[in-house]
Amino acid sequence: MRKTKIICTLGPATENPDMIRQLLKEGADVFRLNMSHADHAWVRQIVPLTRGIAEELSRAVGILLDTQGPAIRTGDLKTELHLKPGDILEFTVRGAKSSEPYSVDVNYDGLVDDIQEGDTVLVDNGVIQLLVIEKQNDRIRCRVMTAGRLGSRRHINLPGVHVNLPPLTKKDLDDIAVGVEVGVDFVALSFARQRSDIDELRRVLLQHGSKAQVMAKIEDQSAVRLIDEMITAADSIMIARGDLGIECPIEELPIIQRKVVKLCARLGKPVVVATHLLESMVHNPIPTRAEVTDVANAVFEQADAVMLSEETTIGSYPAECVRILNRVALRIERSGGAGYAKSAVLEDVRQKTVASAVVLANSLPRSRIIVFTRHGTMARNTSNLRPELATVFAFTPSEEVRRQLALCWGTCPVRIEFSQDPNETIETAEKYLRDCGLTSPGDNLVIISDIRAGGMLVDTVQLRVAR
Ligand code: PEP
Repeated sequence: MRKTKIICTLGPATENPDMIRQLLKEGADVFRLNMSHADHAWVRQIVPLTRGIAEELSRAVGILLDTQGPAIRTGDLKTELHLKPGDILEFTVRGAKSSEPYSVDVNYDGLVDDIQEGDTVLVDNGVIQLLVIEKQNDRIRCRVMTAGRLGSRRHINLPGVHVNLPPLTKKDLDDIAVGVEVGVDFVALSFARQRSDIDELRRVLLQHGSKAQVMAKIEDQSAVRLIDEMITAADSIMIARGDLGIECPIEELPIIQRKVVKLCARLGKPVVVATHLLESMVHNPIPTRAEVTDVANAVFEQADAVMLSEETTIGSYPAECVRILNRVALRIERSGGAGYAKSAVLEDVRQKTVASAVVLANSLPRSRIIVFTRHGTMARNTSNLRPELATVFAFTPSEEVRRQLALCWGTCPVRIEFSQDPNETIETAEKYLRDCGLTSPGDNLVIISDIRAGGMLVDTVQLRVAR
């Protein structure tokens, strides 16, 4: 069973039922809806469709709503601007008119306040690089440093500049309301810059009565600087390498990735490695050797999940991409992992109980871990310790928890009703695994559950042998 989970972003190439079914059969675990491109009608239609197909295939599948966040964009242009090094380009705000041959307005008026002369402006995935040479109250004059064609509504990155946009824009709040309405399992916060941004999203979700988990996207210098508090505040982390590789010096990217994956292991939070994993497969049926090595690296680091974006939204080979991730992950997992979980901080007794179960499972041949979890915490604690061989079978009475656990490394979530008698619940789980062929007679079952003792429920670790 593959340990590393696969997230697929849905889009025009994958929004039809046949393709969703195929992605699930190839091994997709979580579907991402990118709100920079999706509209509300689509979200209302795609979520029940996806859930219906997952149900049909008896699969636990999570849905991740990814907010656009405080993104700065250029406005509409009648024709593309062909920019050359040395040209002057003016960014205008508040409806100002420019007399320069090259100018474009920007959707954020505060840009002129946040930016300083000497700052760098990057447009369209960092392809066009500009230097700020002068600013006035309604315009910023820039010198073009690298050539490029500027089209309409291009994304602007401002490396190292503190942008005073709120963490959640009106669009984000509207999108989140629709996400809550359809019951998404995770909400990702784009350009999360500090702990309070994450707290703000959590507050909004609570106000809506949603139990969706908060995923913080690490994609700018502030988030990297404050990484400890970001990981502590969020339920999970996405290393959003697309923007991160523009906001930070590109050679820092592998170092940041490793540092964030290690810290997530230490602090016990699921982590996703995102973007450009199989970029060439947007157009080609096979990946480059370098891409396979990049995927292998994320798998070796034991990230919880790897994420596909354009490969599955507009790519010509979405199912093949999932197949490749599955093949590479299975092979690399067999060769061992980085073992960062050895540095996991075990703060409470329940984490220590789980740790003893993982030690036991690692010491036994043919072991499986069975964990009973109402809120997902014990299952996440188990997954965070990255058991060497044993799959973690997480049994929960909650459909929501089952879908959220689809993100967690090495975890196979199953929904069952819990009975009053914990022993009866254990037997139901054992029977389920036996009937599905997931255990064979003689397997060592390391069971983490509560039992009734002296009128109280206490956490226990038991070893049983599968029948
Ligand atoms: C990224 O930048 O890597 C990312 C996942 O974010 P988005 O696709 O929303 O820009």
